[in-house]
Amino acid sequence: MKYYSTNHKSENVSFKEAVLKSMAGDKGLYFPEKIPALPGSFFNALPGMSLSEIGFHFLKPYVTGALSDAELNAIMKDVFSFDIPLVEVEPDKYALELFHGPTLAFKDVGARTLARFLSKFSTTHKTTILVATSGDTGSAVARGFFDMPNIDVVVLYPKNKVSKLQEKQFTTLGKNITALEVNGNFDDCQRMVKAAFADEELKRRMHLSSANSINIARLLPQAIYYFYAYGQLKNREKPVVISVPTGNLGNLTAGLLAKKSGLPVERFVAAANRNNVFQEYLETGTFRPRASVSTLSNAMDVGNPSNLIRIQELYDLSFEAARKDISPYHFSDEETCRTIAAVYKRSQYILDPHGAVAYLGLSSYMKEKNVSGIFLETAHPAKFYQTVEQEIPVKVEIPQRLAESLGRPKQTVEIGCQPEDLKNFLLER
Ligand SMILES: *Cc1c(COP(=O)(O)O)cnc(C)c1O
Repeated sequence: MKYYSTNHKSENVSFKEAVLKSMAGDKGLYFPEKIPALPGSFFNALPGMSLSEIGFHFLKPYVTGALSDAELNAIMKDVFSFDIPLVEVEPDKYALELFHGPTLAFKDVGARTLARFLSKFSTTHKTTILVATSGDTGSAVARGFFDMPNIDVVVLYPKNKVSKLQEKQFTTLGKNITALEVNGNFDDCQRMVKAAFADEELKRRMHLSSANSINIARLLPQAIYYFYAYGQLKNREKPVVISVPTGNLGNLTAGLLAKKSGLPVERFVAAANRNNVFQEYLETGTFRPRASVSTLSNAMDVGNPSNLIRIQELYDLSFEAARKDISPYHFSDEETCRTIAAVYKRSQYILDPHGAVAYLGLSSYMKEKNVSGIFLETAHPAKFYQTVEQEIPVKVEIPQRLAESLGRPKQTVEIGCQPEDLKNFLLER
């Protein structure tokens, strides 16, 4: 499989090159030339398949030439050391619990896969991974790459804009992980990373790569759990709708890839918080990126989602075509809180703020249509216990692996919010 740049200027590259470079020279994002359809036999076998088996079959055509079957198989087994259960919360409403990995967030799936691909591909030199995080990416990536030979990780995060728990997860590791506390917002962090990749001097002096969802190797594995969710559904008679809590649109893009590969999902719901640029795009055809605003579902506070361009590619730049597959909604923090309270009261299920937004999107859609609905629970409620415990009458249990990082001291470097601040840091280190 070859990968092209969404800006259509740079030449097409192999999987290995796309993963190592992360972003094309023309600043476009890499995208596969083809999206192969999976055979009927795959879908028939789906209910009995494990995550790693699904991962092997789905990823195989995308990594051909870069990894052998045995290598891919071993990586998939290693990545999926945890389950992703589908839990019925209310009649016809299922939570896909993506938070059972090491950092309790769905980003573990992409980050763990990317880390293993990258370390396979960078055997002769040191690679510096830059990652901008609005909360959960930093921890998933830092943990995924922790102590890996030939890999340095630099995490950029907006000062005072991630939860204490999230911060502890990526600022306390040390070793090959450095955390930069940026005096700005998430979009500044993302802009700084993008500028570093485009910088000729940095490109000459070091091997930079990205672990944000601009890297195709983080995005592709996220399609795997959509198949797995479908395989776990008991009732497949009704049309299936999946609600995705969206920020940078990586998770939604992966779902759309699964659909394009044949997954019989009728429609996706794109559920956002007040940062609703994607909804505006689908409704008007105009994309107006802007500064993000802070909300309780902070991992979705994105005003300029990187992966929009990939969704546009999937639909030949037609927002009308995209709208046939995607229903957008957005919700306020008040609605999010009320939903956490109401769902707990009705069914004793504890939503985190991101899952609550996804639940809200699904419920809004299901008021009009009789479908079987899945919403993605992207983070463990313990990561946002301050918010969650205000809405429910019980304490959220803090899992052991989260409690451990809370006890360790934070180690960060504070920097400004301009591309030069990051460049200077990288060159002077
Ligand atoms: C990153 C994140 C999201 C948003 O996912 P995107 O792929 O950026 O759209 C939603 N929920 C949680 C908990 C996240 O960490």
